[in-house]
Amino acid sequence: MRLPEHAARAIAQLEAAGFETWAVGGCVRDSLRGTEPHDWDLCTAARPAQMQTVFAGERVLETGLRHGTLTLLTDGGPLEITTFRADGGYSDGRHPDGVRFVGRIEDDLARRDFTVGAMAWHPERGLCDPFGGRDDLQNGILRAVGDPDTRFQEDALRILRAVRFASKLGFTVEPETAAAMRRQVARLDCIAAERVREELTGMLCGRFVQRALMEFADVIGYVLPELTPMFGCNQQNPHHRYDVWEHSVRATGQVPAEPVLRWSMLLHDCGKPACKTVDEKGIGHFYGHPAVSRELAEGILTRLRFSNEDSARILLLVEQHDRPFGDTDKLLRRRLSRIGEARFRDLLAIKKGDVVGQGTHPGDIAWLYDMEQRLNRVLAEDACLSLRQLAVDGNDMGALGLSGPAVGEMLQALLDAVIDEQTDNTREALLACARARMEERHDE
Ligand code: ATP
Ligand code: MG
Repeated sequence: MRLPEHAARAIAQLEAAGFETWAVGGCVRDSLRGTEPHDWDLCTAARPAQMQTVFAGERVLETGLRHGTLTLLTDGGPLEITTFRADGGYSDGRHPDGVRFVGRIEDDLARRDFTVGAMAWHPERGLCDPFGGRDDLQNGILRAVGDPDTRFQEDALRILRAVRFASKLGFTVEPETAAAMRRQVARLDCIAAERVREELTGMLCGRFVQRALMEFADVIGYVLPELTPMFGCNQQNPHHRYDVWEHSVRATGQVPAEPVLRWSMLLHDCGKPACKTVDEKGIGHFYGHPAVSRELAEGILTRLRFSNEDSARILLLVEQHDRPFGDTDKLLRRRLSRIGEARFRDLLAIKKGDVVGQGTHPGDIAWLYDMEQRLNRVLAEDACLSLRQLAVDGNDMGALGLSGPAVGEMLQALLDAVIDEQTDNTREALLACARARMEERHDE
């Protein structure tokens, strides 16, 4: 294990002042697994005021100081340094009642949730591992520190953190820990929606998301009850090999690990169970499901306080996931003009995930790659796809005598005409087209 320069320096500064200091938590876990930690956290015997003295004159943030955390702003990035502490009780099931500073690193490690995150490391003293974290890491096991029921009662967010770690690390949750997660799941009721959202998003973006979603479907279903009808919902359809849940899980694992895409894929078919009908041949159908999925998804996204921007992106993808692109360049340009290149590419990713998740139509994937080629070609042609690229503007419409909303409507109609190749995108042609349309109106 090697410490980056900025962490080594901070440890040396604190120890020179007489305070025992260690690297701790996720950075130790990740270094031991051979992956680069995304940040380094330190813990120290120094009390907050003593840290302030040691780092006097350096750039620090003091926002977490009450809980014992000082953030040192270094050239190597921010470094969180926290006084050894044990949490008091958790009477509300989410916040420790008080912070109690302690003298020993072992007591600090005991408040942490999982053994693989409850190790500390020091360049000379080596590893401090009182709970067998290194063995669990070696064996790919996620195990609660201490009595699992108590730990999930103290802070139910840990239940979702466990699912997130299972998804990120591909670890097996130790059976007693997993059983306690299930016994305590109702305590998730008192966790703030934003924190639930963040853990679920992290979980969805994990490499092992499929396994985690299948294994902990019941836990996910507790926080997203709208999804439970998907479990075991047989599609009875030759286009589908899996039930609605497994199909959605497989599709989720197929799209790039980007929150909007992963959420869209998880939710895209959640309206299917409510729309299911079976015809006289015994084939299942799900007419109108994208609209129902959208409605359910909207409820979930609102409850979890998604930003308006993310919510709009997800809902567009859920709603349009099943809509055909059409075979012609004209139809492609039309859709492109409506939703823009970025959303179009999102939609291609969603459709690929959907097709792979169905597990029956490898040929459709080739078709989607083909669509991507066509998209690239249309974009390279620099075709007119937006009002901005139109050879006339609002002033021209004003000069023709239009005003108010009629201006925007006419410009949109002209854009559609250009996209449909009914007119060239030149000033003369567009003005002529606009005049013809105005005359038509008068004739009506
Ligand atoms: P990541 O790679 O996701 O950052 P991490 O293990 O560093 O993983 P953090 O959420 O950054 O996780 O927390 C840092 C450390 O603090 C954890 O390793 C764990 O020891 C402890 N910790 C964080 N949240 C909790 C919690 N809710 N309950 C108990 N310990 C926690
Ligand atoms: Mg971390």
